[in-house]
Amino acid sequence: MIDHFKLRKLFEEFYTSNKHVEVPPIPLVPKDDPTTLFTGSGMQQLVPYLLGEIHPLGTRLYDIQRCFRSQDIDDIGDNRHTLLFEMVGNWSLGDYFKTEQLTWIFGFLVNTLHLDPNKLYVTAFVGEDGLPQDADSIEIWKKEFAKVGIKADIGNHIYLYDATKNWWSRAGVPAKMPAGEPGGPDSEIFFEFTQVEHDAKFGEKCHPNCDCGRFLEICNSVFMQYKKMPDGSFEPLPKQNVDFGGGFERFIMAMENNSDMFETSLYTPIIKEIEKITGLSYSDEKNKPAMRIIADHLKASVFLIKDGVLPSNKEQGYVLRRLLRRLTVKLRKLLGKLPSPEEVALISTQVLKMYEGVYFNVEEDIKLVSPIIKDEIKKFSASLEKGLKEIEKIEKIDGKIAFDLYQSYGMPVEISRELFLEKGQEIDSKTFLEAFAKHRGLSRSASAGKFKGGLADQSEQTIKYHTATHLLHQVLFDVLGKDIRQEGSNITGERLRFDFYHTQKPTEEELKKVSGIINEKIAKALPVEFKIIPKQEAEKLGAKSFFREKYPDMVKVYFIGDYSKEFCGGPHVKNTSEIGSFTIMKCEKIGNNLFRIYAK
Ligand SMILES: [Zn+2]
Ligand SMILES: [Zn+2]
Repeated sequence: MIDHFKLRKLFEEFYTSNKHVEVPPIPLVPKDDPTTLFTGSGMQQLVPYLLGEIHPLGTRLYDIQRCFRSQDIDDIGDNRHTLLFEMVGNWSLGDYFKTEQLTWIFGFLVNTLHLDPNKLYVTAFVGEDGLPQDADSIEIWKKEFAKVGIKADIGNHIYLYDATKNWWSRAGVPAKMPAGEPGGPDSEIFFEFTQVEHDAKFGEKCHPNCDCGRFLEICNSVFMQYKKMPDGSFEPLPKQNVDFGGGFERFIMAMENNSDMFETSLYTPIIKEIEKITGLSYSDEKNKPAMRIIADHLKASVFLIKDGVLPSNKEQGYVLRRLLRRLTVKLRKLLGKLPSPEEVALISTQVLKMYEGVYFNVEEDIKLVSPIIKDEIKKFSASLEKGLKEIEKIEKIDGKIAFDLYQSYGMPVEISRELFLEKGQEIDSKTFLEAFAKHRGLSRSASAGKFKGGLADQSEQTIKYHTATHLLHQVLFDVLGKDIRQEGSNITGERLRFDFYHTQKPTEEELKKVSGIINEKIAKALPVEFKIIPKQEAEKLGAKSFFREKYPDMVKVYFIGDYSKEFCGGPHVKNTSEIGSFTIMKCEKIGNNLFRIYAK
C-alpha cells in the first residue's frame, strides 16, 4: 500500500525525473500576500511568476503545499471537505505545455499510483464566446486512454463543459475578462467510486461534475493560453504557462478506493482517538458529521499553531479560536459533558504523530501545541455552560443577539446557529453573517473548482505598498535596533500593515523618524532591482529573510538602491519615487513584544 510518506516520495521522483525543481512550501500564514489571511493553494506563491516575473529556480517547478481555507467551513461534516489539506502543484513557466502535462500526469496516476484507468474520467473546455474547443487536450486524452486499451471519446471518459467549469482567468468566464487579462482552458481528472450509486436528485444522468459523490475531482491542469485583446478577441500568449493543482488527500482516497476521506489513512488515527474518548463508533451514521468536524478542526488547529497562529480575537487567531471552540461544543454533544482539555490534547497528539518528520517533531511540538489547545479549551469551558443556559432562555434569535452571545460568552456564530437550529429555529443566516461580517470581516465563497487557484490582487497600489514595506522593514531595523524581527505583513489596496517583534513600543518620536527616512528614500528615487543568487551569498550580503520560511538554494533578492536587500519574489516598483509618499497611521501592541504598524 502507498501511504502518505511513500506518496510524497513518488511525487518527488516523478517531478525530478521530469526535470522539475522543488519550490519550498510557504507557511500557512503568508508573509507578503495582499489578499488573504491564509495560504489557500499551492500556486499562491507562484502568482508573480505566472504573471511574468522570472523565477530563481527556473521554468519547471513543483511543490507539496499545506493549505487552509476557512471559507469552506460550512462544507465540513461531509465526506470529502476539510479546512486543512495539502496540494500538489507543478508549473511550467513558458516551458512545456499540454502534451507533456497531460501525458505525464496520466502516466503517473496509472503506472505509478496504479489507479484503474477504467475509473478515470477527464474534462475539457467545450468552446464558447469566440473561443475554440480545447481540441488539443481532447486529442491527447484519446491517445492516453488508447495506450491503456480504452477507446475514449467525447461522452465516454472525456466530458466537455462550458467556461463556468473548464475555463480559468482571474475575472472568471471569458466574457468577464478585461483587456490584457490572461486566461485559458483547464482539464480536470476525476476518479469514479463505482460503489457509490448515482442519486437522481442531482439529475437524470451521472457525469464527472455531478454532485452525488460518485465522482471525485482529484486534480486540474490549467493552461494559461490566451490574452484578451481590446477588441474582445483572444490572441495566444507569447509565453504560455501550465498551472497544475492536485488534492494530496484525494489521491489517497482514490488509491484506497474510499469515498469517505475520514475513513482513509490520513484521518483514521484521529477518528480512532475520538472513538476511544467518546466511547462512540464512527460507523454509526449519526455520529459522523460531528466526528468529522472534530477531526478536521483539530487537525487544522494543530497545523495553524505550528505555523505561528495563537487563539485571539483577530484575523488568523480568531479563526483558530472558532475551530477550537466549535470542536469543544461537538465533543460535549457526543460525550454528554464537557471534554477535559487533556482529552482534546490527546487527539491532537495523533495529528503530530501522523506527520512526524514531514511537518512535525512529536517530542518538540507536543510542548508547543498541547498547552495552547488546553488553555483555550479551559477558557472556553468556563463560559460555555453559562452561554448554553442563556441560549435556552432566548426565545427568538437574531444577528444582534448572536453577536452578544459571542461578546459575552465567546460563542462563535457557527455554534449559536447550530444550537438554535436544534431548537427548531430556522435562522436567517444572512442576518447572522451580516452582524458578524461587520465586526470580523470574514468572507464566504463557494468551494467549487477547488484546484483552480486564483491569482491574487496585483494592482499598482499594492505593488507600491509592497516596495514601501521593504523600506519600512529596513528603517525599523536602523531606527529601533537590530533586535526587531518581522512577524508578518499584509497589503491591501488601501494600506500596508507590518507586524514585528521588539522589546518596547516605538515612541512617537521614533515613528516620526521612521516616516521621515522613508520619505527621504522615496525622494531620492532609488532604483529597485533584483538578482538571482545562491542562498548563501544572499545571507552573506545580509539580505533580510523571513524566519518562518524555508528558502531554496537559489533565491531572488530585491535591492532598493544600496539601502535595502530582502529575499522576495516581487513584484516591485522600478523606482522608489513611484511610491509617492508614506504616512504611518497607527502603531499598536498586538501581543507579547509584538507590534503592528498601519501605513499608507
Ligand atoms: Zn451522480
Ligand atoms: Zn517582498
